[in-house]
Amino acid sequence: MTELSDAQRELARLFADSHDGIALTGAGISTESGIPDFRSPGGLWTRNKPIPFDAFCASAEARAESWRRRLAMEDVFAAARPSTGHKALTALTQAGVLRGVITQNIDNLHQDAGLVPARLIEIHGNTRYATCIDCGLYHSIDSVAESFAQSGGQAPECLSCRGRVKTATISFGQAMPEHAMTLAVQWAQAADLFLCLGSSLTVYPAANLPLIAARSGATLVIINREETPLDGYADLVVRAEIGEVLAPFVDTGPDLLRSGNP
Ligand code: NAD
Ligand code: ZN
Repeated sequence: MTELSDAQRELARLFADSHDGIALTGAGISTESGIPDFRSPGGLWTRNKPIPFDAFCASAEARAESWRRRLAMEDVFAAARPSTGHKALTALTQAGVLRGVITQNIDNLHQDAGLVPARLIEIHGNTRYATCIDCGLYHSIDSVAESFAQSGGQAPECLSCRGRVKTATISFGQAMPEHAMTLAVQWAQAADLFLCLGSSLTVYPAANLPLIAARSGATLVIINREETPLDGYADLVVRAEIGEVLAPFVDTGPDLLRSGNP
């Protein structure tokens, strides 16, 4: 563990040397945006046992319950704005330090912070829209909310095929998105710097990515307010709030960065 200002100096040095960095982000980068992480006590996410994919597919009651929970979170998602961490990662990508961001998050905040699609891999999908799992049709959350209210809380049906509509996220027991995972592994293997920010690094296969990167020669940095199981593999562990650590890098232009001063 390193003191905050020392850590920021070390990060500035690593950023100045890196041309193919990758950031892996978890729920912790969005807590400063007002979205509770998985572990926060009393959070909506922890009060209910997750509904596995098979149960969602098999039962209209499970689908209705899943949508009841999702729509109860809509005000939180709609009000969330990118945090300092999201903004700093966009700046570092635009400055050519990072190739891009791999996120476990489903909240769309990296896109809201201006990260372009080619620079972002969402390995757990996105909850800001829905798709029909039978025919693939896109559904807006607003259209699902409307049908949910009109039907008195029934599971929504696809507007085209009357199939099952689900947020565009990956549930427990659901296959990982193959293309996204393949690309994420390629990015990890090619990385010269691999930053883990606000991920508990306990959810697999996401938690393998830092190890793949480190084994392939990347410098591994973990920024988290708590210990993680991979701290022992990291070259630099910064145990602090993400916003505080990355604040000096939000306005990072390539020139400022190359000077080595945060
Ligand atoms: P997690 O909730 O398991 O862990 C979050 C981690 O972030 C913790 O280790 C915590 O110590 C750290 N943290 C929280 N706020 C921080 C801050 N301000 N500064 C530094 N560290 C901070 O999250 P996870 O590892 O991403 O895994 C949970 C899964 O749940 C994810 O895969 C994701 O799909 C889903 N999820 C997503 C969101 C979202 O999209 N915002 C929110 C909750 C859960
Ligand atoms: Zn359909």
